[in-house]
Amino acid sequence: MSTAQQASDTPRKYQLFIDGQWVDAESGKTFETPNPATGATLAEVAEADKADVDKAVAAARRAFEGKWSKMSARERGRLLYKLAQLIETKSRELAALETADNGKPIKESSYIDLPGVVENFEYFAGWATKIEGETIPVPGQMFNYTLREPVGVCGQIIPWNFPLLMAAWKLAPALAAGNTVVLKPAEQTPVTALELGHLIQEAGFPEGVVNIVPGYGETAGASLAAHPGIDKIAFTGSTEVGKLIARAAAENLTKVSLELGGKAPNIVFADADLDQAVNGAMMGIFFNQGQVCCAGSRLFLDERVKDEFLGRFKERAERVKVGDPMDTQTQMGPQVSAEQLTRIKSYVDIARSEGATVLAGGSTPELEGDFKKGFFFSPTIFSEVENKMRVAQEEIFGPVASVITFKDEDDLLRQANETIYGLSAGIWTRDITRAHRFAKGIKAGVVWINTFNMMNAASPFGGYKQSGYGREMGKHALEMYTQVKSVWVDLSGRPIGWFGK
Ligand code: NAP
Ligand code: MG
Repeated sequence: MSTAQQASDTPRKYQLFIDGQWVDAESGKTFETPNPATGATLAEVAEADKADVDKAVAAARRAFEGKWSKMSARERGRLLYKLAQLIETKSRELAALETADNGKPIKESSYIDLPGVVENFEYFAGWATKIEGETIPVPGQMFNYTLREPVGVCGQIIPWNFPLLMAAWKLAPALAAGNTVVLKPAEQTPVTALELGHLIQEAGFPEGVVNIVPGYGETAGASLAAHPGIDKIAFTGSTEVGKLIARAAAENLTKVSLELGGKAPNIVFADADLDQAVNGAMMGIFFNQGQVCCAGSRLFLDERVKDEFLGRFKERAERVKVGDPMDTQTQMGPQVSAEQLTRIKSYVDIARSEGATVLAGGSTPELEGDFKKGFFFSPTIFSEVENKMRVAQEEIFGPVASVITFKDEDDLLRQANETIYGLSAGIWTRDITRAHRFAKGIKAGVVWINTFNMMNAASPFGGYKQSGYGREMGKHALEMYTQVKSVWVDLSGRPIGWFGK
């Protein structure tokens, strides 16, 4: 597959992965997933709904009570490591499929997504044998210890912006801790998660440990979130749907973790290295077509550097190479879907009506041939934005930066925190005390100083406020996928309390 068109020549076909088998949906229904660069059909995929989710949950329960719980931690770790190796071996093909299904540049899927997937499975493979309980120094002739046990059957619902990477963030810690999973990929991008199903089979995971049920959120997703047979639901996506998930889960008091939207402040102080900060602003908002929950979508500029910074930022934004995502020179591909493109375009009108200026982009780029039908949008900068405007408060989820200027630090911190979100923030300064003062003052789960979008499987990621709860990656992710049991043992041999004798 050398070009986006070739990747979509003959639509591929995928079934559901339930109980170790590839099966059609009970309803027999299928849906198509297009290549967003051309609009051509990439694959025809079986469409799961409630009946299939029921089957998948039952299979995951059998696996949890059966073979999986009898396996040693070492065996679980080895399976995860084997899976990481299989993914690595197939990473070129998986990267090409990810680009064909999602539209992200092949450079990103090859050098960011796929290595991240392998890293996460390797990292959590190592954890499988290191999940331990504690002994607690309780008073008296008592021995008290804790067991850290898996939660059980986990429902995992993931978005389309990093399809395979989000599957890895979810599956790796859940499996390392001994849970079984029913995974629902996004309707826009089910292909690589289903390819992963084949590798899970090849690695030798017992049947039913991982089940994959592509389908629509309103049907497959909703029935998974509300299912009384699952013990935990993990979700990444919009804050709006996150609330629906939490509500559905409340009915059965299913444990929930949510990784939701963001509107990150990316703050440039006058003393920053401006070259680096411009690069950071570019990476913050144009990476992955701006479809990143932690994107630096509110760019706060110190008034004193505004003109110089914006001059350079605009020039760089207008030079971004937008086009065929299979071309290794491409820096931005299409948005994931026609819906997302329409949504982004609507914010250009909103920005204008609110009194902001469209400094760069704001429209669809002129492209040739099949790419005319793709969902492309140009790198866009809104200047003269005020923090209270909708373009500064709502998650646009596209390559759109809203620029806000500031004069003093206190006012800046107040504005930076004036948002319902709290996922991430960036700070550009050479002043070490200011950098750490801000890192502390910002209400967000991740802060980057003189860098942006840095992540590692060992480092926790997650939100404050309406950006969600729970932390993915690092040892914190294991807290979401384990529960603690406290065991008491009497060492005295005497009757307890006043009921004895
Ligand atoms: P979304 O609806 O939140 O989708 C995320 C996942 O939830 C998908 O698998 C989706 O399935 C599923 N889902 C949707 N409705 C559901 C329901 N009622 N019950 C259970 N699961 C459900 O996001 P979207 O509609 O694709 O995108 C809309 C906006 O969400 C974006 O513009 C962006 O602001 C935000 N978003 C954020 C992230 C993030 O990483 N934080 C990622 C994606 C989108 P289907 O896709 O099959 O409907
Ligand atoms: Mg949706």
